[in-house]
Amino acid sequence: MALNRSMHPRNRYKDKPPDFAYLASKYPDFQKHVHTSLAGRAVVNFKEPEAVRALTCTLLKEDFGLTIEIPLERLIPTVPLRLNYIHWVEDLTDGQKQPRRGIDIGTGASCIYPLLGATMNGWYFLATEVDDICFDYATRNVEQNKLSDLVKVVKVPQKTLLMDALKEETEIVYDFCMCNPPFFANQLEAKGVNSRNSRRPPPSSVNTGGVTEIMAEGGELEFVKRIIHDSLQLKKRLRWYSCMLGKKCSLTPLKEELRKQGVPKVTHTEFCQGRTMRWALAWSFYEDVVVPSPPSKKRKLEKTRKPLSFTVPEAGVKELRDKASGGSGPVDSVAALLEKTLTDLKVLHKQVPRRNPEQRSLFLTAVENTWIHGRPKRREQTRQLRELPRAPHCAGTSSHAAPAAAGTPPPPPPPALKKPGTTSHGNSQDRNTEAKGASANEPSEGGEQTEASEEAAGEDAVMEASTCTEPQQKEEPPSPTPTPTPTQHFLFKCLLNVLLEEADVVVEMHWVEGQNKDLMNQLCIYLKNTLLKLVTKT
Ligand code: SAH
Repeated sequence: MALNRSMHPRNRYKDKPPDFAYLASKYPDFQKHVHTSLAGRAVVNFKEPEAVRALTCTLLKEDFGLTIEIPLERLIPTVPLRLNYIHWVEDLTDGQKQPRRGIDIGTGASCIYPLLGATMNGWYFLATEVDDICFDYATRNVEQNKLSDLVKVVKVPQKTLLMDALKEETEIVYDFCMCNPPFFANQLEAKGVNSRNSRRPPPSSVNTGGVTEIMAEGGELEFVKRIIHDSLQLKKRLRWYSCMLGKKCSLTPLKEELRKQGVPKVTHTEFCQGRTMRWALAWSFYEDVVVPSPPSKKRKLEKTRKPLSFTVPEAGVKELRDKASGGSGPVDSVAALLEKTLTDLKVLHKQVPRRNPEQRSLFLTAVENTWIHGRPKRREQTRQLRELPRAPHCAGTSSHAAPAAAGTPPPPPPPALKKPGTTSHGNSQDRNTEAKGASANEPSEGGEQTEASEEAAGEDAVMEASTCTEPQQKEEPPSPTPTPTPTQHFLFKCLLNVLLEEADVVVEMHWVEGQNKDLMNQLCIYLKNTLLKLVTKT
């Protein structure tokens, strides 16, 4: 399922969705809700609240030893999402004394966060609730799991959130508060009108939850603003304040509010599970807290850090050494051949002084796309390249002038590369895998659902494509390249490292700057194919 790979790394369901067939064989109450699909797989219909409830209760029992009861007319939590939030709170409070002490605002009938936090980590919880039915169930769920020493459920008035709950306890400093706020402002929003992109299919799962649970005046935005307001008075009584959000668009105004109020530490995250995505915001008045990076920054860092690379295996290196003119060692031989290829391609390259005898580095400046020429009859190659963005002047179909030659501003970058099969919401693969596991089937709880398509683009897709590609042969000379002015007009710059890893030689390309990383991907494939072709030819 699309979003499961982005689950929190410690989420037990990340690479291991629940085994419905096994659970059905062990739990008769769950078995009633498990059907066999046409393909012969055990599936659960997530549009049935009873089925969702049965799965939640079964997972809590099987994986956490918890026995809970929840009424159908109240929100039924899904376990993978709740775990993602618990793990993020662990990250936020990492390094603090144990056991930690937290507040769950609006604990629900299940009391799921306190039950999980207490069972998994021995955390103390103050759990608040406004709804009578939820309060009664939550109290019973704590008692029957013998967790009353760790979890205290309190009934609070609707009008305030943290202030009232903490009135009587003036001494204790809490490590965190967490909250899954009522998401919707009104019935229409709860039904999904206006909250979803109109092109999207309806939610794949039922929206369980009573009116007071899923709706609050002003929706989640106002609810969280009220928590922010309370936090401005309570300040250091809690080390971290946090809230889950059902809509991504709530993040920006809430962060803006925190900024306006001068809150020193703010961060956010995404919770990905099944086809559902949620967001969460956290803030602190403590200067010394460690702030986990938000996911977008993490992704960017990973992208800039992760080089493109390919390996020339030991046997191939031996062949290449015979062909290389200048070099003697394996690294030098490969580097010499790469330099020759780059010269042929008219890619500017400068040797970077070496610090390590087992590494050679070249600084590359590509001014023109000379690596995408090839005879049309090379079908395999054409097929591959069709999927890759090209520098516009080399595509043969574009009327853009070459930036290096014409001295004009660079044309807009080519469209982002997409990995096939990762973009469409509810594609057949999604549907087929729909009931593979709870983690793959997080009910929407009526909120926004999003797709994981951002990571679809990128290096991996291209390198995968390259593995089945016929090495490229230059059968027509590259178009004449004008003497480039490297400082002004270039497609991209990168650092190419050639290094020894055991007996293999690894070639890495680190992005520095330029129009589009896909151009570097293309060059990487070209270099790889050129070297490997030399090896296979012998
Ligand atoms: N934490 C549970 C329930 C979330 S639903 C879960 O994640 O599954 C939101 C809950 O907040 C509802 O149970 C609702 O009754 C409760 N609630 C609404 N306003 C509240 C308030 N002002 N203080 C405490 N709880 C509130």
